[in-house]
Amino acid sequence: MRLSRFFMPILKENPKEAEIVSHRLMLRAGMVRQQSAGIYTWLPLGKRVLDKVNAIIREEQNRAGAIELLMPTLQSAELWQESGRYDAYGKEMLRIKDRQDRPMLYGPTNEEMITDVFRSYVKSYKDLPLNLYHIQLKFRDEIRPRFGTMRSREFLMKDAYSFDLNRQGAVDSYNRMFAAYLRTFSRLGLRAIPMRADTGPIGGDLSHEFIILADTGESEVFCHKEFLSFDIPAEDTDFWDAAAMKAIFDQWTSRYAATSEMHDEAAFNAIDDAAKVSARGIEVGHIFYFGTKYSEAMGAKVQGPDGKEHTVHMGSYGIGPTRLVPAIIEASHDENGIIWPASIAPFDAVVINMKSGDAACDTACETIYGALGKAGLDPLYDDKDDRAGTKFATADLIGVPVQIIAGPRSVASGEVELKDRKTGARETLTVEAAINKLT
Ligand code: ATP
Ligand code: MG
Ligand code: MG
Ligand code: MG
Repeated sequence: MRLSRFFMPILKENPKEAEIVSHRLMLRAGMVRQQSAGIYTWLPLGKRVLDKVNAIIREEQNRAGAIELLMPTLQSAELWQESGRYDAYGKEMLRIKDRQDRPMLYGPTNEEMITDVFRSYVKSYKDLPLNLYHIQLKFRDEIRPRFGTMRSREFLMKDAYSFDLNRQGAVDSYNRMFAAYLRTFSRLGLRAIPMRADTGPIGGDLSHEFIILADTGESEVFCHKEFLSFDIPAEDTDFWDAAAMKAIFDQWTSRYAATSEMHDEAAFNAIDDAAKVSARGIEVGHIFYFGTKYSEAMGAKVQGPDGKEHTVHMGSYGIGPTRLVPAIIEASHDENGIIWPASIAPFDAVVINMKSGDAACDTACETIYGALGKAGLDPLYDDKDDRAGTKFATADLIGVPVQIIAGPRSVASGEVELKDRKTGARETLTVEAAINKLT
């Protein structure tokens, strides 16, 4: 992408409305724009990062056996009347009427709708286990939307729903998602800690919130230091080995971890002082096993091996991609801007032409930009007419992992400079060596 042909509206001033660093940086880097309270446009730079986050979530959901579909944002109130949540959900639900005066709503979550899909097609235990997910917008009329897309009213959620014949099957499904979440957050450059959670309005008796530690987090959390060094399940983990899944779950729940709502002061105090972590955290994911709460109310049953009808056991599993993007920035930035983990960077590298219009600089930059693209990388080329200082500041702000800097002096001796955004380390290489190093 040539910056001269891209749309990346950088803000020079610090936006006054931003209270936390991720919000400030997302606005300054031209990633998002607020359209009305808690409702955002994802501008092209932000959209690139969001797409990469979604791609990782999707890969790990698929690896764990979940199957993608896409449900609508607008739902009929009838389904929610069946489950009893239409009245219970309260003011967070945006209620709408269509022209026939039929009550509709903008989905805050999809348990009812997926249960309706399930009951329409699945009739036998032979089709279980089944886990269906989508990545779709949700709307919750949050009383206090804030911190940009960290707590917005319209936001993206990956929500998966599992269906099993009995409790044991459902616990196996739960453990698969638990392991998939550990891998997902790790690939996003985050260490998320599963904490025992309250099941709230979703219902049920087994639930974990995945929390990343951050000073700006809205939750107060308490856990054992060992969580920071537990191993993440490997890529070749067999998700269909129930014992292996249980072993992962057991290890990751073997130490104390709870948010303030579930906090047990006595249990926490039993931990060695040196191993106590008392911090703030951001909820990036939340998984629930809730048994037959919806399947019972909505008649989702299958025929079991015994020939009898069984009400299916369900779980639901949420991740917030539009919250993860700012959460990653909270965890990875410096005073000059964002530092993206390579796995979700909007571009793989940025070629900075310090003197656009200078024939030698232009040639060196075009050569590198062309070669990186040819090698399958996704480079950004700052070919604009700006001062070099402006270009350096922009490159640092948008956090692309590698910068290739071409100025008249270095180019005269056939060289360019490579800068690592994270460490600041610089090295001078010939154009050819630079290309070889990056491809
Ligand atoms: P919170 O406690 O922050 O209000 P929640 O517990 O209501 O979140 P869940 O119903 O568990 O959220 O939804 C699953 C995931 O969706 C959350 O873990 C979070 O990542 C994301 N999410 C929930 N509400 C929002 C929001 N208002 N803005 C952005 N992401 C959200
Ligand atoms: Mg909430
Ligand atoms: Mg919560
Ligand atoms: Mg939650």
